[in-house]
Amino acid sequence: MNLPSVIILSLGGTIAMTESDRGGVVPTLSGDALVAAVPQLKRIAAIEARSFRQLPSAQLQFEDIEALAQTIAELDAAGPRGFVITQGTDTIEETAFALDRLLDIDSPVVVTGAMRNPTVAGADGPANVLASVQVAISDAARGLGCLVVMNDEVHAARFVRKMHTSRTDAFASPASGRIGWVAEGRFRLALRPPRMPGLALAGEGRPAQVALVAAGLGDNGEQVRALLAAGGFDGLVVEATGGGHVSLGMAESLEEAARAMPVILASRIGVGDTLTGTYGFPGSEIDLQRRGLLVSGCLDGRKARVLLALVLRHCPGGRDAVADAFAPWSGDSSCAS
Ligand code: GLU
Repeated sequence: MNLPSVIILSLGGTIAMTESDRGGVVPTLSGDALVAAVPQLKRIAAIEARSFRQLPSAQLQFEDIEALAQTIAELDAAGPRGFVITQGTDTIEETAFALDRLLDIDSPVVVTGAMRNPTVAGADGPANVLASVQVAISDAARGLGCLVVMNDEVHAARFVRKMHTSRTDAFASPASGRIGWVAEGRFRLALRPPRMPGLALAGEGRPAQVALVAAGLGDNGEQVRALLAAGGFDGLVVEATGGGHVSLGMAESLEEAARAMPVILASRIGVGDTLTGTYGFPGSEIDLQRRGLLVSGCLDGRKARVLLALVLRHCPGGRDAVADAFAPWSGDSSCAS
């Protein structure tokens, strides 16, 4: 029988961790070992496993994800049915979104991990790998962009967030809901997110540092001023309160920042669009846009930081390129095409 081919690229994370002599678990298991732990895979797909990195996900860099995207794009030319990426869950919401933006292919790219490592009871890695392959071989998953599959739930990379530090149901898409789920080995697509073409930014970009600052009660711009004084940043994302609001002092410091670098206005709520035209007080979203900030639209602060970093890494100094990259996320077709 001709089984569909799926390429699994492993990056480390809890799913690949075993006890270390120095205490605690560390990533050690290869891609082959992750596949060997799921004998059911043999019946549904011809799997090729590749160990791409062996890291806790907090140590992954943009260079790693750009290299991964490049590898996927090259492998895709040979026509596999789909790809599964295994990695740590701590940064899945960022890496999956970066892959979603970097790649422009129809083949399903599913990112998964585990909340419980292989040494503990009820480890969820094998079930997550199996569900991810079941999604990756499904025709319904083609053209959906990058997906995150955890706990039998399927999320679009653009909406998914990690919501819990340890539970197996840690992932959700609070703005939109999950787009589907896996039941009895089948991917059930419930909502099809509109196609958002990837940026198709080939290769490794140049280094670019993007700061992520959250507004809070009593912050009168001190964080942003300290960051400007320290230097070393190419861009800034501010997670403002509510729909996009900061103190007058912070508004003034952000205006100063926007003269030096692209500054993106997101919300610390993490769910819901950044407002653009409702409030007119000093420090409001209308005021901040007049001061030179660009809104993140429906992207939360972390995803806005990923998008800004990718654009700055590949289109250095291009304020227009930044505006173009963010416009589709806040236009009429926001979060769509
Ligand atoms: N909780 C994380 C995980 O699920 C810790 C390690 C990591 O992100 O690599 O994998």
